[in-house]
Amino acid sequence: MQPKYKRVVLKLSGEALAGAQESGIDLNVVRSISKQIKTIHDMGVETAVVVGGGNFWRGRDADMDRATSDYMGMLGTVINALAFQDALENIDVMTRVQTAIEMKDVAEPYIRRRAMRHLEKGRVVIFAAGTGMPYFSTDTTAALRAAEIDAEVILIAKKGVDGIYDSDPNINPDAKKFDELTYLEILNKELKIMDTTATSLCMDNKIPLVVFGIDEDNSIVSVVSGSDMGTKVR
Ligand code: UDP
Repeated sequence: MQPKYKRVVLKLSGEALAGAQESGIDLNVVRSISKQIKTIHDMGVETAVVVGGGNFWRGRDADMDRATSDYMGMLGTVINALAFQDALENIDVMTRVQTAIEMKDVAEPYIRRRAMRHLEKGRVVIFAAGTGMPYFSTDTTAALRAAEIDAEVILIAKKGVDGIYDSDPNINPDAKKFDELTYLEILNKELKIMDTTATSLCMDNKIPLVVFGIDEDNSIVSVVSGSDMGTKVR
């Protein structure tokens, strides 16, 4: 099947990797998402993955020095990235992990041109350690990396929800799902889909976004194949 996109940034939240667990990594979830990544990779889609870290640590939630806490959060994303590297390479997908905080024994440092070269050579690039800076999020990392590597779209795979709603559908049964939205509407309606830094970065750089559910079967492949699932933002 002809994919809809040539180059994508796939943002996976840490929460999605925990599966039914409260925290940590459910390797079955990582393996199942990796299979979908292999499918889109085999379709010829250049795929960069930005992994979150909320399954280990969220900087702002801890009662401690914020910057230190955020560095702990960034390290959590590296653990997730290595789990994906292992799962993908086990199914013969070549990968490179690039970290925004240097840890050369573990992974390459983030180098934009090298990341783009890896993608051109058919490697999946996994961006870890967020932006490398405290007070930011991995959603902002996805926006930043998508702009830097000239990705056509950011795919945001969410756990427990299949798009953007006007209120939380897990609390309000009358919540209404949007098929399409603009970034301005997200900001004006104060929809909690991404933090405002990430939203503004996408808006200013005109990077479209698709928000969809990770719980639905094969959703990443469906979105890349052009299905109308989820909510499109531009
Ligand atoms: N983080 C950070 N700078 C970044 C990206 C992440 O300080 O550029 C820290 C922050 O503490 C955050 C944690 O890493 O709470 C995990 O990232 P995030 O909350 O974005 O993960 P997700 O919600 O996607 O699992």
